[in-house]
Amino acid sequence: MAPRNQLKDRYRRMLDNVADAAIKSRRQPEEIIPVAVTKYASPDQVRQLIELGHQDLGESRVQQFQQRVAMANEFIARHKILSGSRKAEPPDRIRWHMVGHVQRNKVKPLLPIVRLIHSVDSLRLTEELQAQAAKADLDVDFLLQVNVAGEKQKSGLSLPAVPHVAEQIQTMFNLRLRGLMMMAPQAEDPEECRPWFSRCAELFHEMRRDGHYGKDFNLLSMGMSNDYQVAIESGANMVRIGTALFGDADPPTINCNTRQQKVTR
Ligand SMILES: *Cc1c(COP(=O)(O)O)cnc(C)c1O
Repeated sequence: MAPRNQLKDRYRRMLDNVADAAIKSRRQPEEIIPVAVTKYASPDQVRQLIELGHQDLGESRVQQFQQRVAMANEFIARHKILSGSRKAEPPDRIRWHMVGHVQRNKVKPLLPIVRLIHSVDSLRLTEELQAQAAKADLDVDFLLQVNVAGEKQKSGLSLPAVPHVAEQIQTMFNLRLRGLMMMAPQAEDPEECRPWFSRCAELFHEMRRDGHYGKDFNLLSMGMSNDYQVAIESGANMVRIGTALFGDADPPTINCNTRQQKVTR
C-alpha cells in the first residue's frame, strides 16, 4: 500500500497542474472539475481522498460503482459521528460519475446513485435511460461519448452522429444532455492528442452556440492522467484522472502494454 502522504502529494500536484492549464487557457482553476477515477484505487486511498475534501469520484463498471458508493457513504456517515480531530473535512456528499461503457441491463441499479454519466454512446442506451428514469421518476444528467478518431476498439458516436442523436434526445423528458466526453487515442506524447481534443471542443462550442440544448449543455469531459493538461488547454472543463493519483509508485509509463494491464487489474 502506498504511504499516506504519497496520495496527498499527488493530489496537490494534480490540482496545481489543473490550475496551471486553466490559467494558460484563460480560465479560473475552479472552472475545471477533476474527477478522480477510482478503478485502480484501494479502499483506503478512496477514503484518504474523501478526507482531503475531494467531491467528484468516478468508476467505470457498474458493480464496482455500487460497492464504492456503499463504502464511501458508510465512511462519510462514520466520519461525521467521530469527527473532531481531523483537519480537512470530507464533503457531505460525493458526486459520483460513471465514466465507463454502460450496458442497458445495468441502467436500473445505476440511476439512483449516479450524478453524471459520461459515456452514453448510442441512441438505444438513451432510450433505456429514459424508460428507467421515467419509471423511477428521476432526471438523468449525461454526456454523449464521442469517438473522435473513429477507433474500432472504443465505443462512442462519430462526430457527425452527435448532433443527430442529440436532436432525438430532446423528446426524452427525463434526460438532460450536459455535454460531450471523449478519450484520445493512445499516444507517447500528449501533444499528439491536441488535434483530437480540439476537434471535440469545436463541436461542443458549435452545439453550445446554436443554443438548442439549453444553458445546461456546458460540460466537456476530456483528458486522463497522461493528457489532462493538454485537454484543459484545448477547452475541457472536466478531466478524469486515475493512475496519476492512485497508480504505482513509478509515474505511469505511457505505452499500450502497461495500460492494458492496468485496465484489467
Ligand atoms: C480508467 C479511466 C480513466 C482514468 O484513466 P487514467 O489514465 O488512469 O487516468 C478515465 N476515463 C475513463 C473512461 C476510464 O475508463
